[in-house]
Amino acid sequence: MADCKMPIPNLFSNWQLAISNSSDAVLSVVLSASCAACDTLLLHPTRGPVCEPCWTSILPLTAPLCDRCGDPLPTWRQISGPLARCPRCRRRERPLDRARAIGAYDGALRAIIHAFKYEGRRSLARPLGRLMRERAAEMIEGARCVIPVPLHPSRKRHRGFNQAADLARQMPLPVVAALSRVRATPTQTGLPAGRRHRNMRDAFIATRAARGLAGAAVVVIDDVSTTGATLDACARTLKLAGIAEVRALTAARVVGRLTPDD
Ligand SMILES: [Zn+2]
Ligand SMILES: [Zn+2]
Repeated sequence: MADCKMPIPNLFSNWQLAISNSSDAVLSVVLSASCAACDTLLLHPTRGPVCEPCWTSILPLTAPLCDRCGDPLPTWRQISGPLARCPRCRRRERPLDRARAIGAYDGALRAIIHAFKYEGRRSLARPLGRLMRERAAEMIEGARCVIPVPLHPSRKRHRGFNQAADLARQMPLPVVAALSRVRATPTQTGLPAGRRHRNMRDAFIATRAARGLAGAAVVVIDDVSTTGATLDACARTLKLAGIAEVRALTAARVVGRLTPDD
């Protein structure tokens, strides 16, 4: 007697319906939510913690870029292969094969990463990950997996999460924990590039998971590349473990900041 059955009220779907019917305008007034990057009132709070103008203000790094690290180059450097590298990458051979980012670590992108990393706005991993996939599709192409830059356990305990792992999970490749951080490195802030490279030496070891990646191309994921010291240290460790090609994809990179110690 199926036709005698009364419809069973589904409280959960009613609740969902009520939420989805609530207009952004009402939420915007009730919650008074402001953009996590620029602090203006969010017109569409249901679309996430960062306003649309902030997202659209993030410009890609424009070609020509250094073949290796992805730093923008003066146009005349396009002429020939060896010149298609920035001064830092021409000065010494680096273990990292290629690196790319959404854009420069500046303006809205810097503020968004700050909110993501230090204010625990972990939902920002999704839109940041989408931009990473869109703007650096060639980094992912043909790679076997992504490897997040690990935090030292003490720092991870303090922050509660690893921002690089959150971003890595947004990539369309398996996430492999092929690196482990064995040394808690002092803060890199304020150190010149050469010192940063020395500071990072022996900071990582390859884990058992790296064994299955011999001969493969992999992508190391991090939030920001400053001088590339961390990524170079990761790449060196992975290559010693037999990985053939190490690429890096970060949400942002500090562009062209050469210091006397570089
Ligand atoms: Zn904003
Ligand atoms: Zn370079």
